[in-house]
Amino acid sequence: MDDMLFGTSGIRGIYGKDITEKLACSVAHAFAESNVAIGRDTRSSGQALFHAAASGVLSKGYNTIDLGIVPTPTVALATKKHNIRGIMITASHNPEEYNGLKLLENGKEISKEQEKKITAQMEKEGFSGKWDMHSASMRDDAIIDDHKSLIKKLVDEKSIAKKKPKVIIDCNGAGAAITPYLLSDLGCHVVSINAELQGFNRLPEPTANNLQKTLAIVRATAADFGIAHDGDADRAIIIDETGQLIGLDVQLALAIEQELEHAKNKLILTTVEASLLVRETIERCGGKYEISPVGSTYLSHKLEKANAIFAGEPCGEYIYSKGVPCPDGILVAAKFAQLFADKGHFSNLAKRFKPYPMVREKFACIKKPKADVIEKIKQEISIEGKRNDEDGMRIDEKDGWFLIRASGTEPAIRLTAEYKDKKKLEERAVKLRAIIQSSIL
Ligand code: MG
Repeated sequence: MDDMLFGTSGIRGIYGKDITEKLACSVAHAFAESNVAIGRDTRSSGQALFHAAASGVLSKGYNTIDLGIVPTPTVALATKKHNIRGIMITASHNPEEYNGLKLLENGKEISKEQEKKITAQMEKEGFSGKWDMHSASMRDDAIIDDHKSLIKKLVDEKSIAKKKPKVIIDCNGAGAAITPYLLSDLGCHVVSINAELQGFNRLPEPTANNLQKTLAIVRATAADFGIAHDGDADRAIIIDETGQLIGLDVQLALAIEQELEHAKNKLILTTVEASLLVRETIERCGGKYEISPVGSTYLSHKLEKANAIFAGEPCGEYIYSKGVPCPDGILVAAKFAQLFADKGHFSNLAKRFKPYPMVREKFACIKKPKADVIEKIKQEISIEGKRNDEDGMRIDEKDGWFLIRASGTEPAIRLTAEYKDKKKLEERAVKLRAIIQSSIL
């Protein structure tokens, strides 16, 4: 695990090494200031960590509500429904040997300040179990139906049912508990794959590489589109009818376009990773945008404060102001079913967007702390432009931009660059690569 307990999105690491029952128990104990709802994804270590976390809550005198295997946004909904805190046991898109804890309150992951408080609390707090505590473990078996009902109100069921799209849903994790059922309810002809509620059938990150079989199934079955989740289904990646990913930036642009089409509120939130295509789409649709550091925690908190209609990151994590204030891959799935019903096949819709040449690279950073490396890189770079230092370093030039930042979940430095001209992109990439490589040594 990293030098800090919390990363970009909760606590994450290798099960048995970084993430142990002892840790889950003490985090849950420190976090419990009310009853706590606990959900988990399909990882084999989830059950043991669930009981450890539940024990941490119960031994403080609070009740637990066992949600079973549910997506992270369903836990978010449970925190609002019961007005209590929530814990999701997941390592999101990381491989199955990882696990972790996402801590939620008021429908979203807790803020960076709250994370610091929990860390401090853990250091000073021992276990405080008393013989006369009356804490109990309970269940909420209705939460999946509640989540489905919330989403059904945000789409036009009739228009989706009329089109009856054939959809391949690659669940591979907690999404198996809800997405196929929701889309069936909406009138889609659903074929779900990797839908066991135990372990994973493919690597949980929904990348083109990990989705090869899924893409082939979409093609072979002549489906109208496909959906693939990550391990905790706060993400959804969309596959067009030709069996290709629409692409992260085009997918985000389509989602933004859909939200801006009839909206009065035109404020969109996105992150320092926003592409030119996303910015151009927002402007073309008459929208405004604000930028935040990478990570759904920032977006969730900013969405409510800024009163934005939608917040999206290119990785497929979108927050809709009328849904839960946490990325909801199940709502994304329903929204794209709606988009299909309204506008037809996605390969056609995506064609209108011409992504600019882009570089996304990852550099292992093992010898030095990531923060020191980023500081060194900042000093080395002399490219002029509009600079944003909120999360790593982003420089916007007229004809493109680049971002160098520390990965929130891995010991790595990430480089993203996008320029209208391929030659300029290459030029910039060569220069920036060299600076990063010399700084990590
Ligand atoms: Mg996730």
